[in-house]
Amino acid sequence: MKGRVVIVGGGLAGLAAACDLADAGLQVTVLEKRPFLGGRAYSFLDGRSGHEADNGQHVFLRCCQEYISFLDRLGVLGHTSLQPRLRLRVIDKLTGTSVLRAGKAPPPLHLVGSFLRYRPLSLGEKLLAAYALFRLHSLDRSRHPELDRVPFGEWLRAHGQTRHIARVFWDLIVRPTLNEELDNASTDLAAMVFQAGFLHDARASAIGYSRVGLSTLLEGAVKDYLAARGGQVRTGTAVRRVIAAGGRAAGVALEGGETLPADAVIAAVPPDALLPLLPDGLADEPFFRRFRQFQFSPIVNVHLWYERPVAGILFAAFLNSSLQWLFNKSRMWGQTGQVQQLDISLSAAYDWADWPGRDLIEVMGKEVAAFFPEARTASLAYALVVKQPQATFAPRPGVRALRPGPTTPLPGLFLAGDWTDTGWPATMESAVRSGRAAAACLLEQMKGGESSSSGETHTAAVARDSTDRRIVRYGKG
Ligand SMILES: Cc1cc2nc3c(=O)[nH]c(=O)nc-3n(C[C@H](O)[C@H](O)[C@H](O)COP(=O)(O)OP(=O)(O)OC[C@H]3O[C@@H](n4cnc5c(N)ncnc54)[C@H](O)[C@@H]3O)c2cc1C
Repeated sequence: MKGRVVIVGGGLAGLAAACDLADAGLQVTVLEKRPFLGGRAYSFLDGRSGHEADNGQHVFLRCCQEYISFLDRLGVLGHTSLQPRLRLRVIDKLTGTSVLRAGKAPPPLHLVGSFLRYRPLSLGEKLLAAYALFRLHSLDRSRHPELDRVPFGEWLRAHGQTRHIARVFWDLIVRPTLNEELDNASTDLAAMVFQAGFLHDARASAIGYSRVGLSTLLEGAVKDYLAARGGQVRTGTAVRRVIAAGGRAAGVALEGGETLPADAVIAAVPPDALLPLLPDGLADEPFFRRFRQFQFSPIVNVHLWYERPVAGILFAAFLNSSLQWLFNKSRMWGQTGQVQQLDISLSAAYDWADWPGRDLIEVMGKEVAAFFPEARTASLAYALVVKQPQATFAPRPGVRALRPGPTTPLPGLFLAGDWTDTGWPATMESAVRSGRAAAACLLEQMKGGESSSSGETHTAAVARDSTDRRIVRYGKG
């Protein structure tokens, strides 16, 4: 196919769209305002210490098939690890260690064995939790769209779940996968996570992660892939506005004043970054105006470098502790040196996001020492806190009605991003799916000779950058 396409945003959504379009023969230009690709999934070299860190630990499950295929297509899947089946260590300060693992029985029975041995729940509580799991397993979501407006906490209470069961079981899964608290999360999205990840396929919940920094994993590979197909990637290039001409998207204007004409534009940026880019008047149209209702939830990552190894585990989830999840980055990245890097990942971190970095490091350091005796004597060589107040869109009840498909009222303008209507929570999988869906729509329209929904007209609004990262550094370094 012939034609020029500009993609705004070099996150996973924009990159997935770019690869599909370049494969189809289109002339693709990716514009990314920051000096690197990867969007909200990236790594960086800390200038002060020379240590590499991810902005935050990213894991994927085996059910994230589009993300896995994307890595495979770029030739970098070999730099990741994926469990054969779920094996998750849960360390509870009160009851000790349990391991949730997927057995060989057909789903959903594959989880029964380890669930029966799950120490934080009594037998009676397990039966209650199993009842709710069974209800989720057999739930036909397509027949119950109203569940998107029901807070999952409310659904759990209506299905006999006590506060204790919610805290030591449901929250363990929902918080990291939806980046939200139970009472703030859409029941439909929570049900989607349990069905796709845990209940319908015995291997779907296997956990995967990158064995190199997130930018190392993707950046070079995607640039090579696009260059080999005549595509162009321009980092450090911020788009100021999408240009409309003749009632359709006709290119973009850059911050420096340059304009790039195009036959179509894919905006692969978060919703609050999209609105200021729209041609005059468009942001006030109902289709776009609703995006102002998106809310966001924070993730905080506390990276600790100990002078020597203190934790023998690869990763674990924690209960009755400030630690939610702890990842042993040194082991995950196969580092052989003496220094050990731990990454503590705090999802839906409403309670932590405003804490001073120094205090976060102190609290998390004490918690690490409470579980890992070696950390009581090993000194902390360096620490880094990465706070992302707008890490993901918040999957609040009713969010589905806000999420758009790839087409827009402005012909030639397409949308991608983890926040669009992929049916998935804000994940790398959702981002890749959205990019591929936008590319498919664009190709379809180019093949069939354009048609787009409405042709309404357009105003800009001012919005904040949703990536809004704040880094606080402490230590020798
Ligand atoms: C700390 C953290 C931990 C996470 N953990 C996980 C996890 O474990 N598993 C998982 O699956 N997901 C996780 N996520 C979510 C995942 O990172 C995102 O869902 C995904 O990366 C979103 O990709 P995207 O392309 O939709 O958006 P983004 O990554 O936000 O990409 C948008 C890009 O557009 C650029 N941009 C914005 N405005 C402009 C402009 N005007 N001009 C040019 N460029 C512009 C931005 O700089 C950005 O690079 C996590 C996110 C965070 C922040």
